[in-house]
Amino acid sequence: MIFLDSAATTPVRREVLEAMWPLLTADFGNPSSHHELGESAKRALDGARTSVAASIGCRASDVIFTSGGTESDNLAIKGLALAEPRGRHIVTSAIEHEAVLESVDYLVRVHGFEVTVLPVDSRGVVDLKQAGAALRPDTTLCTIMYANNEVGVVQPIAAIAELCREYAIPVHTDAVQAAGWLPLDVAELGVDALSLSGHKLGAPKGIGALIVKGRRSLEPVLHGGGQERGKRSGTENVAGAVGFAHALALAESDRVERVERIARLRDGFVTDVITRLPDVILTGPSLAGATLAPRPDSGTGIGTGTGTGIGIDAARQTESGPSASAPDRLPNNASFCFPGTSGESLLLELGRAGIICSAGSACAVGSDEASHVLIAMGIGEAIAQTAVRFSLSADTTAEQLATVAAEIETAYRAVRSLAG
Ligand code: PLP
Repeated sequence: MIFLDSAATTPVRREVLEAMWPLLTADFGNPSSHHELGESAKRALDGARTSVAASIGCRASDVIFTSGGTESDNLAIKGLALAEPRGRHIVTSAIEHEAVLESVDYLVRVHGFEVTVLPVDSRGVVDLKQAGAALRPDTTLCTIMYANNEVGVVQPIAAIAELCREYAIPVHTDAVQAAGWLPLDVAELGVDALSLSGHKLGAPKGIGALIVKGRRSLEPVLHGGGQERGKRSGTENVAGAVGFAHALALAESDRVERVERIARLRDGFVTDVITRLPDVILTGPSLAGATLAPRPDSGTGIGTGTGTGIGIDAARQTESGPSASAPDRLPNNASFCFPGTSGESLLLELGRAGIICSAGSACAVGSDEASHVLIAMGIGEAIAQTAVRFSLSADTTAEQLATVAAEIETAYRAVRSLAG
Protein backbone atom coordinates (compact mmCIF):
# COMPACT_ATOMS: atom_id res chain seq x y z
CA MET A 1 0.00 0.00 0.00
CA ILE A 2 1.18 3.53 -0.74
CA PHE A 3 -0.53 5.97 1.62
CA LEU A 4 -0.89 9.47 0.19
CA ASP A 5 -3.76 10.70 2.36
CA SER A 6 -1.95 12.31 5.30
CA ALA A 7 -4.22 15.35 5.16
CA ALA A 8 -7.07 13.03 6.17
CA THR A 9 -5.20 11.36 9.01
CA THR A 10 -1.87 9.87 10.07
CA PRO A 11 -0.85 6.77 12.03
CA VAL A 12 0.13 7.23 15.67
CA ARG A 13 3.91 7.54 16.00
CA ARG A 14 5.62 4.88 18.10
CA GLU A 15 7.25 7.51 20.37
CA VAL A 16 3.83 9.08 20.91
CA LEU A 17 2.25 5.78 21.85
CA GLU A 18 5.13 5.08 24.23
CA ALA A 19 4.67 8.47 25.88
CA MET A 20 0.93 7.78 26.26
CA TRP A 21 1.15 4.20 27.50
CA PRO A 22 1.81 4.88 31.22
CA LEU A 23 -1.12 7.33 31.34
CA LEU A 24 -3.43 4.65 29.93
CA THR A 25 -2.26 1.92 32.32
CA ALA A 26 -0.54 2.34 35.72
CA ASP A 27 -0.79 6.13 35.86
CA PHE A 28 -4.48 6.28 34.93
CA GLY A 29 -5.73 8.89 37.43
CA ASN A 30 -8.31 11.62 36.94
CA PRO A 31 -6.53 15.00 37.16
CA SER A 32 -9.41 16.37 39.28
CA SER A 33 -8.93 13.69 41.98
CA HIS A 34 -7.22 14.79 45.21
CA HIS A 35 -5.05 11.78 45.73
CA GLU A 36 -1.68 10.67 44.51
CA LEU A 37 -2.92 9.10 41.30
CA GLY A 38 -4.97 12.20 40.45
CA GLU A 39 -2.10 14.52 41.21
CA SER A 40 0.22 12.48 39.04
CA ALA A 41 -2.26 12.75 36.14
CA LYS A 42 -2.51 16.50 36.75
CA ARG A 43 1.28 16.82 36.58
CA ALA A 44 1.29 14.93 33.27
CA LEU A 45 -1.46 17.19 31.91
CA ASP A 46 0.34 20.35 33.06
CA GLY A 47 3.53 19.06 31.45
CA ALA A 48 1.70 18.48 28.17
CA ARG A 49 0.24 21.99 28.34
CA THR A 50 3.67 23.54 28.92
CA SER A 51 5.11 21.55 26.05
CA VAL A 52 2.35 22.61 23.61
CA ALA A 53 2.83 26.23 24.72
CA ALA A 54 6.56 25.97 23.98
CA SER A 55 5.82 24.60 20.48
CA ILE A 56 3.32 27.38 19.74
CA GLY A 57 5.01 30.32 21.44
CA CYS A 58 2.21 31.05 23.89
CA ARG A 59 1.61 30.73 27.63
CA ALA A 60 0.60 27.39 29.10
CA SER A 61 -2.62 29.03 30.34
CA ASP A 62 -3.53 29.82 26.70
CA VAL A 63 -3.78 26.11 25.82
CA ILE A 64 -7.18 24.38 25.99
CA PHE A 65 -7.18 20.67 25.21
CA THR A 66 -10.15 19.60 23.07
CA SER A 67 -11.26 16.49 21.20
CA GLY A 68 -9.77 17.70 17.90
CA GLY A 69 -9.98 20.23 15.11
CA THR A 70 -13.76 20.31 14.83
CA GLU A 71 -14.25 21.03 18.51
CA SER A 72 -11.45 23.61 18.53
CA ASP A 73 -13.07 25.45 15.61
CA ASN A 74 -16.52 25.32 17.24
CA LEU A 75 -15.18 26.57 20.57
CA ALA A 76 -13.11 29.33 18.99
CA ILE A 77 -15.87 30.66 16.77
CA LYS A 78 -18.87 30.34 19.09
CA GLY A 79 -16.80 31.06 22.19
CA LEU A 80 -15.07 34.21 20.93
CA ALA A 81 -18.04 35.60 19.00
CA LEU A 82 -20.52 35.14 21.85
CA ALA A 83 -18.13 36.59 24.45
CA GLU A 84 -17.42 39.72 22.41
CA PRO A 85 -19.87 42.52 23.22
CA ARG A 86 -18.90 44.79 20.33
CA GLY A 87 -21.36 43.40 17.76
CA ARG A 88 -22.64 40.48 15.75
CA HIS A 89 -20.64 40.43 12.53
CA ILE A 90 -18.20 37.73 11.44
CA VAL A 91 -15.72 37.67 8.58
CA THR A 92 -14.63 34.36 7.12
CA SER A 93 -13.57 32.93 3.75
CA ALA A 94 -15.36 30.80 1.16
CA ILE A 95 -12.84 27.93 1.41
CA GLU A 96 -12.95 27.18 5.14
CA HIS A 97 -13.41 23.69 6.53
CA GLU A 98 -17.00 22.67 7.32
CA ALA A 99 -16.24 22.92 11.07
CA VAL A 100 -15.76 26.66 10.57
CA LEU A 101 -18.51 27.27 8.01
CA GLU A 102 -21.11 25.35 10.02
CA SER A 103 -20.14 27.07 13.29
CA VAL A 104 -20.54 30.45 11.61
CA ASP A 105 -23.85 29.32 10.10
CA TYR A 106 -25.05 28.33 13.58
CA LEU A 107 -24.31 31.83 14.87
CA VAL A 108 -26.20 33.32 11.93
CA ARG A 109 -29.24 31.03 12.34
CA VAL A 110 -29.51 30.91 16.10
CA HIS A 111 -27.91 34.13 17.33
CA GLY A 112 -28.71 36.54 14.50
CA PHE A 113 -25.11 37.19 13.44
CA GLU A 114 -24.29 38.68 10.04
CA VAL A 115 -21.48 37.13 8.04
CA THR A 116 -19.20 38.40 5.28
CA VAL A 117 -17.72 35.51 3.31
CA LEU A 118 -14.55 36.62 1.54
CA PRO A 119 -14.07 35.23 -1.98
CA VAL A 120 -10.76 33.75 -3.08
CA ASP A 121 -8.88 34.05 -6.36
CA SER A 122 -8.12 31.18 -8.74
CA ARG A 123 -5.24 30.03 -6.51
CA GLY A 124 -7.48 30.00 -3.44
CA VAL A 125 -6.04 33.13 -1.84
CA VAL A 126 -8.07 35.71 0.07
CA ASP A 127 -7.56 39.25 -1.18
CA LEU A 128 -6.21 41.56 1.54
CA LYS A 129 -7.99 44.63 0.18
CA GLN A 130 -11.30 42.79 0.30
CA ALA A 131 -10.50 41.51 3.79
CA GLY A 132 -9.74 45.04 4.97
CA ALA A 133 -12.92 46.39 3.40
CA ALA A 134 -15.02 43.71 5.10
CA LEU A 135 -13.95 44.69 8.64
CA ARG A 136 -16.42 46.88 10.53
CA PRO A 137 -16.58 48.48 13.98
CA ASP A 138 -19.09 45.78 14.97
CA THR A 139 -17.02 42.87 13.62
CA THR A 140 -16.83 40.35 16.44
CA LEU A 141 -14.50 37.81 14.86
CA CYS A 142 -12.41 37.22 11.77
CA THR A 143 -11.79 33.52 11.13
CA ILE A 144 -9.57 32.54 8.18
CA MET A 145 -7.81 29.20 7.83
CA TYR A 146 -4.01 29.07 7.80
CA ALA A 147 -3.73 26.31 5.17
CA ASN A 148 -6.47 24.67 3.17
CA ASN A 149 -7.11 20.94 3.47
CA GLU A 150 -7.99 20.37 -0.20
CA VAL A 151 -5.63 22.45 -2.32
CA GLY A 152 -3.02 23.29 0.32
CA VAL A 153 -3.13 27.04 -0.23
CA VAL A 154 -1.60 29.07 2.60
CA GLN A 155 -3.37 32.30 3.52
CA PRO A 156 -1.55 35.54 4.46
CA ILE A 157 -2.65 35.16 8.09
CA ALA A 158 -0.13 37.58 9.61
CA ALA A 159 -1.25 40.33 7.20
CA ILE A 160 -4.94 39.62 7.92
CA ALA A 161 -4.24 39.72 11.67
CA GLU A 162 -2.46 43.04 11.19
CA LEU A 163 -5.56 44.49 9.49
CA CYS A 164 -7.75 43.24 12.35
CA ARG A 165 -5.41 44.66 14.97
CA GLU A 166 -6.23 48.17 13.79
CA TYR A 167 -9.82 47.63 14.98
CA ALA A 168 -8.88 45.24 17.83
CA ILE A 169 -10.96 42.52 16.16
CA PRO A 170 -10.30 38.98 17.48
CA VAL A 171 -8.67 36.73 14.87
CA HIS A 172 -8.95 32.95 14.77
CA THR A 173 -7.14 30.63 12.37
CA ASP A 174 -7.74 26.95 11.70
CA ALA A 175 -4.18 25.61 11.67
CA VAL A 176 -5.16 21.92 11.55
CA GLN A 177 -3.42 21.31 8.21
CA ALA A 178 -0.60 23.76 8.84
CA ALA A 179 0.66 22.06 11.99
CA GLY A 180 3.91 20.22 11.40
CA TRP A 181 4.40 21.91 8.02
CA LEU A 182 4.31 25.66 8.67
CA PRO A 183 5.59 27.88 11.53
CA LEU A 184 2.98 28.03 14.28
CA ASP A 185 4.23 30.84 16.51
CA VAL A 186 1.05 32.67 17.53
CA ALA A 187 2.92 35.86 18.36
CA GLU A 188 4.43 35.97 14.87
CA LEU A 189 1.12 35.12 13.26
CA GLY A 190 -0.53 37.79 15.40
CA VAL A 191 -3.69 35.74 15.93
CA ASP A 192 -5.78 35.49 19.09
CA ALA A 193 -6.85 31.89 18.60
CA LEU A 194 -5.55 28.87 16.69
CA SER A 195 -7.07 25.39 16.22
CA LEU A 196 -5.04 22.17 16.13
CA SER A 197 -5.82 18.48 15.72
CA GLY A 198 -3.71 15.55 16.95
CA HIS A 199 -4.48 12.93 14.31
CA LYS A 200 -2.96 14.99 11.49
CA LEU A 201 0.37 14.94 13.33
CA GLY A 202 0.99 11.41 14.52
CA ALA A 203 -1.13 11.61 17.69
CA PRO A 204 -4.42 9.69 18.06
CA LYS A 205 -7.85 10.78 16.87
CA GLY A 206 -9.92 12.49 19.54
CA ILE A 207 -7.35 14.97 20.86
CA GLY A 208 -6.55 18.49 19.79
CA ALA A 209 -6.08 21.93 21.20
CA LEU A 210 -7.40 25.43 20.92
CA ILE A 211 -4.97 28.21 21.74
CA VAL A 212 -6.67 31.37 22.98
CA LYS A 213 -4.49 34.31 23.98
CA GLY A 214 -5.20 35.31 27.58
CA ARG A 215 -6.50 38.77 26.70
CA ARG A 216 -9.57 37.34 24.98
CA SER A 217 -12.64 36.10 26.83
CA LEU A 218 -14.27 32.90 25.68
CA GLU A 219 -17.81 31.66 26.24
CA PRO A 220 -17.65 27.90 26.89
CA VAL A 221 -19.52 25.52 24.61
CA LEU A 222 -19.32 22.48 26.92
CA HIS A 223 -20.62 23.10 30.44
CA GLY A 224 -19.97 20.86 33.42
CA GLY A 225 -17.18 20.33 35.93
CA GLY A 226 -15.19 23.41 34.95
CA GLN A 227 -12.05 21.66 33.66
CA GLU A 228 -9.61 23.58 31.45
CA ARG A 229 -10.12 26.68 33.62
CA GLY A 230 -13.83 26.58 32.98
CA LYS A 231 -13.39 26.86 29.21
CA ARG A 232 -13.95 23.22 28.31
CA SER A 233 -15.65 20.98 30.83
CA GLY A 234 -15.18 17.22 30.78
CA THR A 235 -12.61 14.88 32.28
CA GLU A 236 -9.41 15.57 30.40
CA ASN A 237 -7.97 13.09 27.91
CA VAL A 238 -4.65 13.01 29.77
CA ALA A 239 -2.97 10.34 27.67
CA GLY A 240 -4.21 12.05 24.49
CA ALA A 241 -2.89 15.43 25.66
CA VAL A 242 0.50 13.92 26.48
CA GLY A 243 0.58 12.17 23.08
CA PHE A 244 -0.48 15.33 21.30
CA ALA A 245 2.18 17.46 23.01
CA HIS A 246 4.80 14.84 22.15
CA ALA A 247 3.70 14.62 18.50
CA LEU A 248 3.69 18.39 18.12
CA ALA A 249 7.17 18.74 19.63
CA LEU A 250 8.50 15.95 17.39
CA ALA A 251 6.93 17.53 14.30
CA GLU A 252 8.44 20.91 15.17
CA SER A 253 11.89 19.47 15.86
CA ASP A 254 12.57 18.35 12.27
CA ARG A 255 10.08 20.57 10.44
CA VAL A 256 12.51 22.69 8.41
CA GLU A 257 14.47 19.73 7.04
CA ARG A 258 11.30 17.72 6.36
CA VAL A 259 9.51 20.57 4.61
CA GLU A 260 12.40 21.04 2.22
CA ARG A 261 12.71 17.33 1.47
CA ILE A 262 8.97 16.70 1.00
CA ALA A 263 8.39 19.86 -1.06
CA ARG A 264 11.13 18.71 -3.44
CA LEU A 265 9.55 15.26 -3.76
CA ARG A 266 6.11 16.81 -4.23
CA ASP A 267 7.38 19.17 -6.94
CA GLY A 268 8.95 16.25 -8.80
CA PHE A 269 5.71 14.29 -8.52
CA VAL A 270 3.61 17.16 -9.89
CA THR A 271 6.04 17.61 -12.77
CA ASP A 272 5.89 13.88 -13.52
CA VAL A 273 2.06 13.77 -13.50
CA ILE A 274 1.64 16.87 -15.67
CA THR A 275 4.32 15.75 -18.10
CA ARG A 276 2.61 12.38 -18.52
CA LEU A 277 -0.86 13.90 -18.72
CA PRO A 278 -0.74 17.47 -20.01
CA ASP A 279 -4.54 17.85 -19.74
CA VAL A 280 -4.42 17.37 -15.99
CA ILE A 281 -4.75 20.53 -13.92
CA LEU A 282 -2.84 21.31 -10.77
CA THR A 283 -5.32 23.08 -8.47
CA GLY A 284 -4.23 25.72 -5.98
CA PRO A 285 -1.11 27.88 -6.14
CA SER A 286 1.63 27.15 -8.62
CA LEU A 287 4.84 25.54 -7.43
CA ALA A 288 8.15 27.30 -7.02
CA GLY A 289 10.19 24.13 -7.53
CA ALA A 290 8.32 22.33 -10.33
CA THR A 291 9.07 22.53 -14.01
CA LEU A 292 5.70 22.22 -15.60
CA ALA A 293 5.03 21.63 -19.25
CA PRO A 294 2.85 24.35 -20.78
CA ARG A 295 -0.73 23.19 -20.77
CA PRO A 296 -3.22 23.84 -23.57
CA ASP A 297 -5.60 26.54 -22.36
CA SER A 298 -8.58 25.34 -24.31
CA GLY A 299 -11.23 22.73 -23.88
CA THR A 300 -11.00 22.17 -20.14
CA GLY A 301 -13.91 24.26 -18.96
CA ILE A 302 -11.67 25.92 -16.40
CA GLY A 303 -11.88 29.49 -15.38
CA THR A 304 -15.62 29.81 -15.57
CA GLY A 305 -15.84 31.63 -12.26
CA THR A 306 -14.05 34.65 -10.87
CA GLY A 307 -10.51 33.37 -11.33
CA THR A 308 -8.18 33.49 -14.28
CA GLY A 309 -8.07 29.76 -14.78
CA ILE A 310 -6.39 27.16 -12.62
CA GLY A 311 -3.30 25.59 -14.08
CA ILE A 312 -2.61 28.57 -16.32
CA ASP A 313 -0.58 29.99 -13.49
CA ALA A 314 1.43 26.81 -13.35
CA ALA A 315 1.94 26.67 -17.09
CA ARG A 316 3.25 30.21 -17.13
CA GLN A 317 5.97 29.27 -14.69
CA THR A 318 7.93 27.67 -17.46
CA GLU A 319 8.16 30.99 -19.24
CA SER A 320 8.66 33.44 -16.43
CA GLY A 321 9.65 31.44 -13.34
CA PRO A 322 7.62 31.47 -10.16
CA SER A 323 6.05 34.82 -9.39
CA ALA A 324 7.43 36.61 -6.36
CA SER A 325 3.87 37.23 -5.25
CA ALA A 326 2.90 33.55 -5.55
CA PRO A 327 1.51 32.47 -2.21
CA ASP A 328 2.81 29.43 -0.53
CA ARG A 329 1.30 26.03 -0.61
CA LEU A 330 1.57 23.21 1.92
CA PRO A 331 4.74 21.29 1.01
CA ASN A 332 2.97 17.92 1.17
CA ASN A 333 -0.06 18.76 -0.97
CA ALA A 334 -0.53 17.91 -4.65
CA SER A 335 -4.10 18.23 -5.84
CA PHE A 336 -5.31 17.87 -9.38
CA CYS A 337 -8.40 17.85 -11.54
CA PHE A 338 -8.52 15.13 -14.18
CA PRO A 339 -10.88 16.37 -16.93
CA GLY A 340 -12.99 13.69 -18.57
CA THR A 341 -12.98 11.40 -15.51
CA SER A 342 -14.56 11.42 -12.06
CA GLY A 343 -12.53 11.71 -8.88
CA GLU A 344 -14.35 8.72 -7.40
CA SER A 345 -13.59 6.39 -10.35
CA LEU A 346 -9.94 7.41 -10.29
CA LEU A 347 -9.85 6.73 -6.57
CA LEU A 348 -11.23 3.24 -7.18
CA GLU A 349 -8.70 2.51 -9.93
CA LEU A 350 -5.82 3.78 -7.81
CA GLY A 351 -7.14 1.83 -4.83
CA ARG A 352 -6.93 -1.36 -6.90
CA ALA A 353 -3.26 -0.54 -7.48
CA GLY A 354 -2.77 -0.16 -3.72
CA ILE A 355 -2.65 3.64 -3.71
CA ILE A 356 -4.59 5.50 -1.03
CA CYS A 357 -5.53 9.10 -1.76
CA SER A 358 -8.63 11.23 -1.54
CA ALA A 359 -11.28 12.65 -3.86
CA GLY A 360 -11.81 16.17 -2.60
CA SER A 361 -11.87 16.14 1.20
CA ALA A 362 -12.39 13.18 3.54
CA CYS A 363 -13.77 15.46 6.23
CA ALA A 364 -17.33 15.75 4.92
CA VAL A 365 -19.07 12.45 5.57
CA GLY A 366 -20.58 10.80 2.49
CA SER A 367 -20.62 14.02 0.50
CA ASP A 368 -20.52 13.62 -3.27
CA GLU A 369 -21.13 17.28 -4.01
CA ALA A 370 -18.45 19.19 -5.86
CA SER A 371 -15.98 20.76 -3.47
CA HIS A 372 -16.99 24.23 -2.25
CA VAL A 373 -13.30 25.09 -2.24
CA LEU A 374 -12.80 24.40 -5.96
CA ILE A 375 -16.07 26.10 -6.84
CA ALA A 376 -14.97 29.20 -4.88
CA MET A 377 -11.72 29.16 -6.87
CA GLY A 378 -13.70 29.49 -10.09
CA ILE A 379 -13.55 25.88 -11.24
CA GLY A 380 -16.69 24.70 -12.98
CA GLU A 381 -18.76 22.03 -11.22
CA ALA A 382 -18.05 19.30 -13.82
CA ILE A 383 -14.29 19.75 -13.52
CA ALA A 384 -14.47 20.05 -9.73
CA GLN A 385 -16.00 16.55 -9.64
CA THR A 386 -12.74 15.20 -11.10
CA ALA A 387 -10.56 16.34 -8.18
CA VAL A 388 -8.10 14.04 -6.46
CA ARG A 389 -5.81 15.06 -3.59
CA PHE A 390 -2.48 13.40 -2.82
CA SER A 391 -1.01 14.35 0.55
CA LEU A 392 2.50 13.19 1.35
CA SER A 393 3.96 12.27 4.73
CA ALA A 394 7.48 12.35 6.15
CA ASP A 395 7.82 8.70 5.07
CA THR A 396 6.89 9.22 1.40
CA THR A 397 9.70 8.27 -0.98
CA ALA A 398 10.67 9.23 -4.53
CA GLU A 399 10.21 5.58 -5.60
CA GLN A 400 6.65 5.54 -4.26
CA LEU A 401 5.83 8.76 -6.09
CA ALA A 402 7.26 7.43 -9.35
CA THR A 403 4.99 4.38 -9.00
CA VAL A 404 1.99 6.56 -8.20
CA ALA A 405 2.58 8.87 -11.18
CA ALA A 406 2.73 5.84 -13.51
CA GLU A 407 -0.42 4.37 -11.95
CA ILE A 408 -2.20 7.70 -12.28
CA GLU A 409 -1.47 7.67 -15.99
CA THR A 410 -2.82 4.13 -16.35
CA ALA A 411 -5.91 4.88 -14.23
CA TYR A 412 -6.61 8.13 -16.04
CA ARG A 413 -6.46 6.49 -19.46
CA ALA A 414 -8.61 3.57 -18.26
CA VAL A 415 -11.31 5.81 -16.76
CA ARG A 416 -11.31 8.11 -19.79
CA SER A 417 -11.66 5.25 -22.23
CA LEU A 418 -14.61 3.88 -20.21
CA ALA A 419 -16.20 7.34 -20.23
CA GLY A 420 -16.05 7.12 -24.02
N1 PLP B 1 -10.01 21.88 9.93
C1 PLP B 1 -9.33 21.41 8.87
C2 PLP B 1 -8.62 22.36 7.97
C3 PLP B 1 -9.27 20.04 8.62
O1 PLP B 1 -8.59 19.59 7.56
C4 PLP B 1 -9.95 19.16 9.49
C5 PLP B 1 -9.98 17.70 9.22
O2 PLP B 1 -9.53 17.25 8.23
C6 PLP B 1 -10.63 19.69 10.60
C7 PLP B 1 -10.65 21.05 10.78
C8 PLP B 1 -11.34 18.81 11.58
O3 PLP B 1 -10.41 18.18 12.44
P1 PLP B 1 -10.81 16.86 13.25
O4 PLP B 1 -10.83 15.74 12.28
O5 PLP B 1 -9.74 16.74 14.27
O6 PLP B 1 -12.14 17.12 13.88
